[in-house]
Amino acid sequence: MGAIRSIKSAYQLLSAKNRTSQPSLSNSEGCKPLWNGIWKLKVPNKVKHFMWRAANDSLPTKLNLFTHHILPDNVCSLCEAHPEDAIHCLWLCDMVKCIWLSDPIFSLPRSKHFRSFGDLASAVLSDTSPTIAALFSMVAWSIWIRRNRLRERQHVWEVGETVRRARDLLQEFWDVQECPTRPLVQRTRQKWAPPVAGIYKFNFDGAIFESSVRAGLGVVVRDAKGMIIAALSQNIQLPISVDLVEALAARRVILFAQELSIAHVVVEGDSLKVITALNNPKHNRTQ
Ligand SMILES: [Zn+2]
Repeated sequence: MGAIRSIKSAYQLLSAKNRTSQPSLSNSEGCKPLWNGIWKLKVPNKVKHFMWRAANDSLPTKLNLFTHHILPDNVCSLCEAHPEDAIHCLWLCDMVKCIWLSDPIFSLPRSKHFRSFGDLASAVLSDTSPTIAALFSMVAWSIWIRRNRLRERQHVWEVGETVRRARDLLQEFWDVQECPTRPLVQRTRQKWAPPVAGIYKFNFDGAIFESSVRAGLGVVVRDAKGMIIAALSQNIQLPISVDLVEALAARRVILFAQELSIAHVVVEGDSLKVITALNNPKHNRTQ
């Protein structure tokens, strides 16, 4: 329980850090190409959210947790030789280098030096094809998941299997995208607009990964300048209906707002049913 509290506290601290370090407009503009590039990636939303957090150095790495006095040290648990920030644990660590070196598709970014994961992600997005950028993101996400499982002493796949496994997951995702096997949620697409000053907009989405019989919830919080101040993604068991995935995502929005102590919010999602239910408290609770 203590660990859960710590990680939650760390997340709140990291979110608060993002919130209080109000970026200037120029910084905000500077982030746009990276954000747009990540958002266009043909990868699951949870991987996009991961990429954005990694690029903004807001993952709960040991360095970040140490900086916020959650952990007593900042040393990478895999190599035990360097402080663990995002670029180290996902790219530079000797224990993960072999993953990237195992496939020549990543030889271009490996030939350069990057100071941060944000720099690396920007280079991959601008210098490689959309397919390579998508696989890069999938592999980076897999490295992070594997690192977390190792820390929790859970079963993990062999390190040499990482790229093949990421390829398989990506192919499954693309297959589902191209051939939906169940009716899609009734969606109301419209251009995103920032909230008015003092209000935060929570955009949520649910995604189904039928091949792995799992679902994902994603929430992105933005301020009146359109800057992302927090984001989360969560993997859950596949519920019985698509609408229920969206409804669970909406419920996660409410909890997330409470965790971030944000009272004035606008909630925006794609599911017409869920948004209608949120706007109408008398809506049939069984739907
Ligand atoms: Zn290391």
